[in-house]
Amino acid sequence: MTLVINRRDFLKTGAAALPLKAAILQPDSAEAIPDVAVGEDVARLVPLPPRLAPIDPTTLPWQQKVRRVGQSNMTEHDPAVMNIEEWADFWSSASADVVFVSVTGILAFYPSKVRFHRHGRFLNGRDFFGECVAAAKRRGMRVVARMSPDLNWEDALEAHPEWAMRHADGSVQFSGEDSRLFRTCMFSSYMDDYVPAIMREVNSLYDVDCFYTNGWPPIGSLPDCHCAVCSKLPSSATPAYWNVFNDRVLELWQKYDAIAKEKNHERFYFANLGGNVRGGPNLDRLAKTAVWFQADNQGRTYDDPAVWGCSLQGRVCNAVMEDKFATNVTAAYSTGAVRWRNSSKNSAEANMWLNETLASGMALYYHFIGSEAGLGEDRRWQKVGASYFQWAAKSDRHLKPRRSLANIGVVIGQSTQLLYPGPVTARSRNYMRETTHGIYEALLTGRFAFDFVHEDRLDLGRLRKYRALLLPNVAMLSDRQCQQVRDYVHSGGSIMASFETSLYDQNLKPRDDFGLADLLGVSKAGGVIGTNGNAYYGRMEQAHPVLAGFADTNWLPGAQNRVPLKPGQDSVLTVVPGFVQYPPELAYPAVSRTAEPAIALRETGSSRLAYFPGDIERTFWLTGHGDLLRLIHNTIRWITHDESVVRVKGDGFVEMFAWETTPGYSVHLLNYTNAHAYHGWLSTAYPLTAQTVTMKLPDGVRLKAVELLRAGMSVPFQLEAGVLHFTIPHVDDYEVAAISVA
Ligand SMILES: [Zn+2]
Repeated sequence: MTLVINRRDFLKTGAAALPLKAAILQPDSAEAIPDVAVGEDVARLVPLPPRLAPIDPTTLPWQQKVRRVGQSNMTEHDPAVMNIEEWADFWSSASADVVFVSVTGILAFYPSKVRFHRHGRFLNGRDFFGECVAAAKRRGMRVVARMSPDLNWEDALEAHPEWAMRHADGSVQFSGEDSRLFRTCMFSSYMDDYVPAIMREVNSLYDVDCFYTNGWPPIGSLPDCHCAVCSKLPSSATPAYWNVFNDRVLELWQKYDAIAKEKNHERFYFANLGGNVRGGPNLDRLAKTAVWFQADNQGRTYDDPAVWGCSLQGRVCNAVMEDKFATNVTAAYSTGAVRWRNSSKNSAEANMWLNETLASGMALYYHFIGSEAGLGEDRRWQKVGASYFQWAAKSDRHLKPRRSLANIGVVIGQSTQLLYPGPVTARSRNYMRETTHGIYEALLTGRFAFDFVHEDRLDLGRLRKYRALLLPNVAMLSDRQCQQVRDYVHSGGSIMASFETSLYDQNLKPRDDFGLADLLGVSKAGGVIGTNGNAYYGRMEQAHPVLAGFADTNWLPGAQNRVPLKPGQDSVLTVVPGFVQYPPELAYPAVSRTAEPAIALRETGSSRLAYFPGDIERTFWLTGHGDLLRLIHNTIRWITHDESVVRVKGDGFVEMFAWETTPGYSVHLLNYTNAHAYHGWLSTAYPLTAQTVTMKLPDGVRLKAVELLRAGMSVPFQLEAGVLHFTIPHVDDYEVAAISVA
């Protein structure tokens, strides 16, 4: 399986004398890690699959043809100040296909007769909602009727105390910002009676196309309510609660959808989703019902500051929605730790969020709040969104993907993200977020083409397209899911897993040993060991492609936490246990060598398996250590046999997407080379120089043109023996290479 040389020889000779197999696998120069020779590029290009059969667009449901969504989110004051004609003209001139208009549920924007549907102070009996719907329809735009079922007022509480969410002491949960509003419980009759009454009233009065609820279901966390109903449910944040929560979400979703269809079967209901990998409802279950994935992930926040937040959300949508509709809300207003919901954010930041929406395969959505002074005191956001929408409208057929070309699948582990509290040594709500960002950044810097995969969608039919499956601390896996991973490997697939992967079942019940112990060839020797001072090391025992590029060192950083393994044979890396880091007098290893594996590697047939007992992805995110990054890159290259479907070479930190489209293919490059990639907002772009793109077309496909959609130009290309090669000479913040074939 590997080229084994004597350890002492290996340490003496270093990388310069590494055997060919190891030497050729050196990572490319984009990582900018000094003192490593750049190896010859031998990445194996895999031909793209035969093209999908064409589909007749007239057979698609209307929402699948939507490419641009506009929303001026309406305030109580808007009926007094908003200019409806100006509003409708703006979104129409921006080529919006759909606009959101507020019905609400907190405040009625029409003369509602539903009890407790309080009329806004400035409504004065006017049918503001109806006027907006009519203005949009006159301009050929569809209308989403927007509701908010999450809050209501004191008079409703007095009549229906059972509608409120309760704290453990029985007191009512009120809005943190306006204590006149109480938080409604999703298990109460508020959701069964009050919300449907409004939907039916709107359906009977207006020509709306669908219904949407804002503020429910919760995103990123689960409710914690102690009302009479919820007190009988399992404790919040447990797998048992998640099951009843998911049942209730599905029950209400289907109920509301049926109400939407009472008047017209093309109407439907959808709700607030998002939360990235930490979605609230089980996304596999929900996506079987939902026809519109509304990702409420509007901008970067202080606790989740990575620039790729929107792309990451797009990958989540793709994992579950397949060819159905998904959109991500871009806030034109100022999101972040300090908010100004009626002031424009930096245009560079808003543009990048829109770029990421398109690149990751979602439809554009642009959102501002309030229309003081006609259409906003601050109108700077309008030009940014309108010009972006108008640009995109020229290239809809290239910008709407049909399927991803990625050859690596990354298991999201939604239940782990939501329910697993982290290892005993590092309990933290952010633990899995840090893990996800660690593998995500590593995949971007390696320019790998990858998809997210939901743990409830591990059937072989779906996984077969991936050369490798990554399981970054997917702690919770059922016996069935473990068997599916086994089946995938037995069919020739490779995997890279880490840390507590498969140590818990779907109910968060710890297993005595890994669910994948047999597959990975490892066995747990005890509980998780954390770091107290100096973290553990991995001692390099043998030459191996995963260690390519490491010279002049006998050991490498391990990770912050690890699952100790029973001694292995012929380990490539072995654990040197952690020790004191201060005082320096004591900063030396008490035990310098063990037989405990710091990585477990196996090879059977065309499958290659790699398991890290440490939380290497998260430790990379916490430290940025280049050795950890190199180890992850080398390992992914080894398990994939260095195969790729699209190669993009050039300088810079980019996120790459490659899609099959109706006219051909598209390769999207997002330029994150920016001082503000990890916090705050972008204020400008730092352009990239030439990026070369190489991919191998399927047999019989003829090439017509390669256009750069942002630059607005065609570029020359070479096509030899099916291998397409072209150069993107320049990338500002974003470029899309649109490849047309015949
Ligand atoms: Zn409750």
